[in-house]
Amino acid sequence: MPSSDLVIVGGGPVGLATAILASQAGLRVRVLDKRRPPIDKACGEGLMPDGVQILSCLGWMPGPGESAPIKGIRYLDGGRVADAEFATAHGLGIRRPVLHRGLVEAARQSGVELSWGRRVTRLFEDSVEVGVECGKERINARWVVGADGLKSQIRRWSGLGGRSSRHRRVGVRRHFRIAPWSEMVEVHWADGCEAYVTPVSPEEVGVAMLWSGEKQGSGNGFETLLSRFPTLVDRLAGRPITSRDCGAGPLYHLARRFYSERVALVGDAAGYLDAITGEGLAVGFQQARSLVDALVAADLGLYAREARRLVAFPFLLIRALLLVERRPWLRRRLIAALAADRDLFSKLLAIHARQLEPADLGVAGVARLLGGLLTAS
Ligand SMILES: Cc1cc2nc3c(=O)[nH]c(=O)nc-3n(C[C@H](O)[C@H](O)[C@H](O)COP(=O)(O)OP(=O)(O)OC[C@H]3O[C@@H](n4cnc5c(N)ncnc54)[C@H](O)[C@@H]3O)c2cc1C
Repeated sequence: MPSSDLVIVGGGPVGLATAILASQAGLRVRVLDKRRPPIDKACGEGLMPDGVQILSCLGWMPGPGESAPIKGIRYLDGGRVADAEFATAHGLGIRRPVLHRGLVEAARQSGVELSWGRRVTRLFEDSVEVGVECGKERINARWVVGADGLKSQIRRWSGLGGRSSRHRRVGVRRHFRIAPWSEMVEVHWADGCEAYVTPVSPEEVGVAMLWSGEKQGSGNGFETLLSRFPTLVDRLAGRPITSRDCGAGPLYHLARRFYSERVALVGDAAGYLDAITGEGLAVGFQQARSLVDALVAADLGLYAREARRLVAFPFLLIRALLLVERRPWLRRRLIAALAADRDLFSKLLAIHARQLEPADLGVAGVARLLGGLLTAS
């Protein structure tokens, strides 16, 4: 008999959320990660309100000074500014090592077996058993979960891998010691590059850059990218840098399916398009919850349906924003239209944050958006 019900490959935030929820549901869970905690990663570090709500169910919340509230989003492009607040609950800005440390502690307390510094080198799945190998150790279980991120090996080994994009988008992040000047995530747009500014504590902000092209290198250093945003250069001049630059990408990796008979994918491993909407963590936490419900019901088909539904609107929004990102004239019109119709922007943000259903926009909302795009200047 396998020693665990669930072996989770990847102890990032989504792997740990899955582990904690599964353990709370009475399953025996083991997590394997090639790195050691607390794990840092290139990320905008904004957690959407529904992600915060799931975090509160995992048995850990950041203490005073360990995070910053996020009340909404602000788009800035040259002189144009549009912002909207979340309809109900707030989001959180939180450094990845702080989040990781908290989730590791919550997993330990809920009885999850945690194995760090263990790189999984193979997946085996036959009619009798399923499991993974870490070098010479063979670990079998009732199910294997791939939570091993963007470049998931479990996705590839299980034959669940899908398309990658020809259009390469990559990212890099840096932190600065400065009291946040806003409770919004600011998205500064320039042609071919965006800067996301997230308050992550009462005295620190994170700046994540996203652009199309090659990873950091000649002409793509953080300083060069930052110089395209004069207002940020002014704000951040002389402020101490509090982290090492950390990059990620290319970002676009899809899975063909979310599961095979006894292997399921969750988080970035289950498919990721882009960071432009800043919701990978919240969507991953939602997937973790629905995967555990399906495991308890011993029906992974339930998970596949729910996971498809969970990514449907985020993927649509990402595709729409990438379209806008590549067309500066359309981007400027969009920001002008949202600035002129704040109610509409608030409704769109509430849908994005899963506080309203997409259908709540209605035909009237779509018409207002199109009308705004046509008439904005
Ligand atoms: C520039 C940028 C900005 C972003 N901004 C935001 C944002 O503001 N808000 C937001 O919600 N999301 C954001 N995201 C997305 C977010 O970072 C991801 O969605 C999130 O990290 C997914 O978590 P995960 O646990 O699925 O994967 P990961 O965090 O990547 O964790 C995967 C884990 O698997 C382990 N692993 C991999 N291979 C193996 C192996 N063979 N054996 C053992 N362990 C293995 C790794 O060590 C890692 O710990 C951003 C992403 C980028 C790139």
